[in-house]
Amino acid sequence: MRAIQMVDLKNQYQKLKTQIDKAVMDVMESAAFINGKPVQDFCNNLSEYLNVKHVIPCANGTDALQIALMALDLQPGDEVITPSFTFIATTEVVALLGLTPVFVDVDKDTFCMDIEDVRKSITPKTKAIVPVHLYGQAVNMEALMSLAAEYNIPVIEDNAQAIGCNVTFSNGTKKKTGTIGTIGTTSFFPSKNLGAYGDGGAIFTNSDELAAKMKIIASHGSAKRYYHEIVGCNSRLDTMQAAILNIKLKELDNYIAARNVVADYYDTAFANHPKIQTPARAPYSNHVFHQYTLVLENVDRNGLQAFLAEKNIPAMIYYPVPGHKQQMFEKYNIQYELPATDRLTERVISLPIHTEMDEEQLKFITDNVLEYCK
Ligand SMILES: *Cc1c(COP(=O)(O)O)cnc(C)c1O
Repeated sequence: MRAIQMVDLKNQYQKLKTQIDKAVMDVMESAAFINGKPVQDFCNNLSEYLNVKHVIPCANGTDALQIALMALDLQPGDEVITPSFTFIATTEVVALLGLTPVFVDVDKDTFCMDIEDVRKSITPKTKAIVPVHLYGQAVNMEALMSLAAEYNIPVIEDNAQAIGCNVTFSNGTKKKTGTIGTIGTTSFFPSKNLGAYGDGGAIFTNSDELAAKMKIIASHGSAKRYYHEIVGCNSRLDTMQAAILNIKLKELDNYIAARNVVADYYDTAFANHPKIQTPARAPYSNHVFHQYTLVLENVDRNGLQAFLAEKNIPAMIYYPVPGHKQQMFEKYNIQYELPATDRLTERVISLPIHTEMDEEQLKFITDNVLEYCK
């Protein structure tokens, strides 16, 4: 059996090697390392794939969130509502910009922002909402967007884990995550569903005004070279990464399908198990399974992780400490009651899921998980 990994980027690369090697060599030959033609090509292709008017490339998913928030002209102390149960980047940028993160709980089944809890957390100071499509499952965007419209609050979707996910609205319209809110952001970190071979990120919007502003922010606050209108930053997607992403974008729907085959296998193996809750699939969207995350009941999670590690099966805890308990946010000194987040933090475990898994590996993983959880 081939070694089991959380993600298998080596074998994924082998399948595209000829194309990718050529694309990288072409960039080398052109020497257009910054803002070469593949960057604009990739933005055009991604904007077509997502059906969104503007795609602004940037250096990583954290920068994407930061630039999006900067474009909203918020004031120090303004509140930004975000889930506690997410990767730290989502909430860190809020604090970095002098804004106040307000943590909300997640739905116990989808692991995504609880919309009723968002409603309860809105105050006159709430100036943005940042939902996270966690593990590849979309937030209930129809409910969130109608709540945000009620209070006229902009929504920035952190789509780092769910690129390619489709949300179906009650009137039948379909939209891709990241294109539903005011602004959407994503990351091309190598292990993400659409991963580069280094860092990368992008921002999406249908607003001409915000797109122009975010382009300026990402380029030292400048639209015209050496004339700087506002304080910005330096955040670029480099040409080599864009050339690679251009090839991988064509595979994204196949990658999502391959991840779903893995998820279906796991679902079947763990169906109706008294100690194992498999991930929910919300009725309003598909799931792109960036992670496949179980919730354990009456199972020693560390024991299971160690038992699997002994058999060379990796398993990860995403995330062991929720935002509202992170030391970096101590100064906000706010007591949160986030029961679903706390419960999940103690019980979740993510199994290997990627585009290159075979049945032998899946059987070995599920047999061992079932053996430990019997
Ligand atoms: C990966 C990730 C980010 C940050 O992306 P980087 O490219 O690593 O900066 C932000 N939010 C979420 C939910 C992520 O998973």
